Amino acid sequence: MTIDRRDFLKGGIGAAAAAVLPVPLAHAVAPVAPTLITGRMSALLPRSQATRVVVCGGGWGGLTAAKYLKQEAPTLDVVLLERNPIFFSCPMSNKWLVDLLDTSFLTHDYLTPAARHGYRFIQTEIMGIERDRKRVATSHGYLDYDYLILSPGIRNNYGAWFGDDLDAAYHTRIHFPSAYIPSAEHLTLKQKIKSFKGGTLVMTLPPPPHRCPPSPYERACLLAWYFKRNKVPARIVILDPKDGIRPIGPGFKAAFDELYPDIITHVPNARVESMDPYAKRIKTTAGEWEFEDAILMVPHQAGELVWMADLIARGEDGRPLGWADVDPLQLVARNDPDVYVVGDAVGVVSPLFQHYPKSGHVANRLARIVAKSIAARAVGREPDPGLPDNLCFMWVKGDPQEAIAVEFEYSMEADLIVQKQIDLNDRSPDLVARDFEWVGGMYQDLFG
Ligand SMILES: Cc1cc2nc3c(=O)[nH]c(=O)nc-3n(C[C@H](O)[C@H](O)[C@H](O)COP(=O)(O)OP(=O)(O)OC[C@H]3O[C@@H](n4cnc5c(N)ncnc54)[C@H](O)[C@@H]3O)c2cc1C
Repeated sequence: MTIDRRDFLKGGIGAAAAAVLPVPLAHAVAPVAPTLITGRMSALLPRSQATRVVVCGGGWGGLTAAKYLKQEAPTLDVVLLERNPIFFSCPMSNKWLVDLLDTSFLTHDYLTPAARHGYRFIQTEIMGIERDRKRVATSHGYLDYDYLILSPGIRNNYGAWFGDDLDAAYHTRIHFPSAYIPSAEHLTLKQKIKSFKGGTLVMTLPPPPHRCPPSPYERACLLAWYFKRNKVPARIVILDPKDGIRPIGPGFKAAFDELYPDIITHVPNARVESMDPYAKRIKTTAGEWEFEDAILMVPHQAGELVWMADLIARGEDGRPLGWADVDPLQLVARNDPDVYVVGDAVGVVSPLFQHYPKSGHVANRLARIVAKSIAARAVGREPDPGLPDNLCFMWVKGDPQEAIAVEFEYSMEADLIVQKQIDLNDRSPDLVARDFEWVGGMYQDLFG
């Protein structure tokens, strides 16, 4: 059964209509064609007297930051820059891939929340960040800032597999997209799932840290459910570089063993050693596979904007570690007091557990902390540090709908952030209901 947002908002999960709305996502999320950066680029907006905060990236972190900045300090001039014309939610997208949710459930318009909360939304490609001039270059002109917030999400590091072989990277992205970044890849993957005739479908998991750690296992469960229901003779092989399933390991293992024993094979310690996307062959530390089709997730890194801003943390040998170098409590860049990073792009926050889970929930919480900090600084007050929390519901079955979940709490011990993880391994319909409550609250917070 397909559920659309109107039915959902009416509270009628059970009464949901079946039609999938034909939103032209491939067009909707295509990046704006970039123009060349030239010295004669003109200003995107006139400069006002107000302190200006430019928020780069209108995903879960950026949308939250823009709204809360205006709420905390209405006199700030807040500008949100985003390349996509509509918001497409990665959270809940696994359910959408197998028709359990409608496209309209995941998509939202950008202009209504901007008008409601008084920030400016500009659809444009960000092409450069000149921190020395406190200026952002976009495909439509430049923008000066007093404070800058980067929430660019992740980028796929194809170089880790293919080095400089751009053809292999392109072939992989086009034929075996992971759909882990809001883009046309989601529609391509959905069509591939629908037309899959059977055989081995390989899923490679990225090494940690990566976006939404439990979501690849959820995707495997929901694909298995979909194939089973439609009598597609599929075998899903999860190639996992970790030594076990994490988080919610027992819950996912029970789902694999009890619900999909003939479909899902989970292979631990399977780090990709080489990949031939043309011959559909993959070699890992746990063996070699040939596949009919695949969802190939390469390692994740902080989104491009953090690299453009030269804010990537480096190891002792000077090599980039892939994620933003920020103060863990204030989220401010270590080498620039006027630039903040929120969301998935944030780097190590504690030696005890390294990274916060890269989730929409955490992005929302970190953005609120940063909005409060900037609002305080704008009126000369000391900013307060802050800690997030996290909550993720993962569906393992489509009919009847059942989910498992994981919660994270954070506290300070001495000077270190401590993480407490609670896995909810028993699958139940109650957790599906709580997932709808969670996402309804989040959408309300981002767009309401
Ligand atoms: C399948 C799946 C399931 C998930 N499930 C959950 C879940 O259940 N719960 C949960 O909390 N999280 C979930 N997540 C994770 C969640 O989607 C991310 O953690 C969240 O989106 C991070 O927010 P962000 O602001 O850091 O990045 P994003 O939300 O990705 O936002 C980044 C934005 O920056 C824009 N951008 C980047 N570069 C540029 C540029 N140069 N110019 C203009 N714009 C730019 C992008 O277009 C994008 O809109 C899931 C993710 C996936 C893939």
